[in-house]
Amino acid sequence: MDSPRYLLLAVSFLAAVSARAEGQAKPNILLIVSDDQGYADVGFQGCKDIPTPHLDRLAREGLHCTSGYVSHPFCSPTRAGLMTGRYQHRFGHQNNPFYNPNDHKEGLPLSEKLLPEFLGKAGYRTGWIGKWHLGAAPEFRPENRGFAETYGFIGGGHKFLNWKENVKSEYTVPIERNGKPEAVTEHLTTALGKEAADFVKRHRGEPWFLYLAFNAPHQPNEPTEERLERFASIENRTRRAYAAQVSLMDDAIGEALEALRASDQEKDTLVFFFSDNGGPITKNGSSNDPLRGAKGDVYEGGVRVPFVVKWPAKLPSGQTYDLPVSSLDVFATSLAVAGAEMPTDRKYDSVNLIPYLSGEKKEAPHDALFWRRGPSLAVREGDSKLVRQGPNQRALYHLPSDLGEKTDIKADHSDLVTRLAAELEAWDGEMIPPAFPGATAYEKPNPNLKKKPTRQ
Ligand code: CA
Repeated sequence: MDSPRYLLLAVSFLAAVSARAEGQAKPNILLIVSDDQGYADVGFQGCKDIPTPHLDRLAREGLHCTSGYVSHPFCSPTRAGLMTGRYQHRFGHQNNPFYNPNDHKEGLPLSEKLLPEFLGKAGYRTGWIGKWHLGAAPEFRPENRGFAETYGFIGGGHKFLNWKENVKSEYTVPIERNGKPEAVTEHLTTALGKEAADFVKRHRGEPWFLYLAFNAPHQPNEPTEERLERFASIENRTRRAYAAQVSLMDDAIGEALEALRASDQEKDTLVFFFSDNGGPITKNGSSNDPLRGAKGDVYEGGVRVPFVVKWPAKLPSGQTYDLPVSSLDVFATSLAVAGAEMPTDRKYDSVNLIPYLSGEKKEAPHDALFWRRGPSLAVREGDSKLVRQGPNQRALYHLPSDLGEKTDIKADHSDLVTRLAAELEAWDGEMIPPAFPGATAYEKPNPNLKKKPTRQ
């Protein structure tokens, strides 16, 4: 080999090694969302009776965000905020859409553009696996909102084992791959984990974005016999079945994460994990200890969730990050790592977390975080949280000393209450009324439905 050619090869090799060492130009993005998992129900949050080794490893190797929030205390609105990077109330998405493929009103308004559309344009292969819950009519479905590959179900929940397929019944519709029904022969959570692992391996070598949205451990609690047996020592039967569901999901997450490692993509993949809302403690057997409240509440128990971010190429590992972060931030963070510009045609509430999580920026990513559910409103600013349950029902909590929101300190801090109340009013004033009536016990019943809805 003549020397110039040798030199050229050597330079190319070194450039490739250097690019590898600095991280892939466009990292993959794996967004894992669990459903109705309690704040306390994962090992890295202190859970003792449900081992979650795969999630614990994720937290150990990534950043455990101890003040991780979602933008709503129940399912669909959180997902609408997550996919748009905007408080979902800005476009009227404050209810769970009822499942009806012929209803063209109940879904994430088409005026909004979703994260996968932007990432697709940035050169990403986009995939969705699991639960959708952002509208069932064709125009609302994931394949028409930017996802190139889809596998899952369109409604707000699904049975996990041995369901009799019925296209008209939300929880027993066939699982669909790219819009075509496909039989599932194992626990649904296990199937979703395998699908995720397959997606990860199949798209090695190109940047990809996978939204892996489990419907576990949302009800119904339907674990396998084998897994239920493993938790025989838990006396409460609901908690026992819930524990088995969480454990099956942890295994499925482990399967997806192992695929990252096995295909040498771990370093260059940004992983998010959180639950879509707090646990509905009286329903599915979850626990939000030591937080106050549950799914549906603007207290911490409704909106503060287990939250992890991991990106070995750029972020520290094995640390905690204590300043408040939000599920809304997935949007701006993902666009930033993809090298895509944030759109400027409307107001966004999403912050690129990378400079904050890496330690480059020391201040808080958000000046404040806000929530609204029915007449209940809340704002967190710094260590303080103001909860307004009605026009004259305000309470102020100091979270670092009172995580359980037990002691109202408004009497001692009237100036702060006045200021936070004004901020809350101003934020609320930017939001709009519901775009569709919805179907959930967490909001007003839908007058169009003959039967009172029983599921959330
Ligand atoms: Ca949920």
